[in-house]
Amino acid sequence: MNVNMEVKDELKARIKKFCQDAGVDIIGFAPVERWNEYDEVPADFRPQALWEPARTVIVLGVGMPLPIVETTPSILHKETYDTANRTLDGMAFNLVRYLNRLGHAGYFFTRDGFGSLRLLKDRPQAAFGHIIAAKYAGLGSVGLSNCLLTPEFGSRVRLVSIFTSAVLPPDPVIEKDLCIKCETCAKCCPVDALTLREDQFKGDYNVVACLDRHIELTGEKAYPCGICTKVCPIGKDRLLYKQKGIVKKYLQEEEALAANPNDPAYKTWTHVRKYGSWNKDYPRDGKPPENNQ
Ligand code: SF4
Ligand code: SF4
Repeated sequence: MNVNMEVKDELKARIKKFCQDAGVDIIGFAPVERWNEYDEVPADFRPQALWEPARTVIVLGVGMPLPIVETTPSILHKETYDTANRTLDGMAFNLVRYLNRLGHAGYFFTRDGFGSLRLLKDRPQAAFGHIIAAKYAGLGSVGLSNCLLTPEFGSRVRLVSIFTSAVLPPDPVIEKDLCIKCETCAKCCPVDALTLREDQFKGDYNVVACLDRHIELTGEKAYPCGICTKVCPIGKDRLLYKQKGIVKKYLQEEEALAANPNDPAYKTWTHVRKYGSWNKDYPRDGKPPENNQ
């Protein structure tokens, strides 16, 4: 190993330790050339088109606790989602400053890159995509749900991306797709926004239908939906929470609660849904709060 490689390995190890000490769950390093090699992302959305000095994209992820995701739509899921996003943005901001102290330029994209869902519906694309960045950083693969699936958390993971001018040793891309095309995400989606494709793992995604559902949920104080992340069977977190083999329960949930909103099999989730947000199954006055107040 030459001296230059040793220096790069040492810098990568220091960055990883800094992020792990800050509480990150997963971290990956992608060379900017991967956006050109894979040629999946329009040219204007690639790291060097956005910030020319970029040489490496560092992607950080934090897991969303499975039992909280299972309560969606709920205020508990909403607050946890917001906390995950704020945590990631804080980590990314601090990492850019750490890189600067080490003598390297940095730049980052905050977790969510839109001001409102209506603005997103008008132009349904972020300036930079964290999911593809995470795939190129070796953190997972994109499934039918259009989410990143990771070995650790399935799709129950939030992501943020940091660009740096430092050239760092890349992590290998996970070549085997983690999605098993079980279609549970598509079957459980309340607005049928996901459709299986035979020719690839990533499904067709009706972004407008999904955004319309999210606009409804914002009014109900229960944004985001996340049902496709809840039901995905992939992820070691299912072993930790002893929640393997419950796909049938997810698939039957809508029908069971339509027949009996107080079905005891779903009580731990529905109890949380009844309080702090509006839920059509448990209306107090039959309509969501006005003016989003
Ligand atoms: S977030 Fe909800 S509405 Fe959107 S695709 Fe997933 S399950 Fe469907
Ligand atoms: S729920 Fe099944 S089909 Fe959907 S992303 Fe997960 S593994 Fe793939």
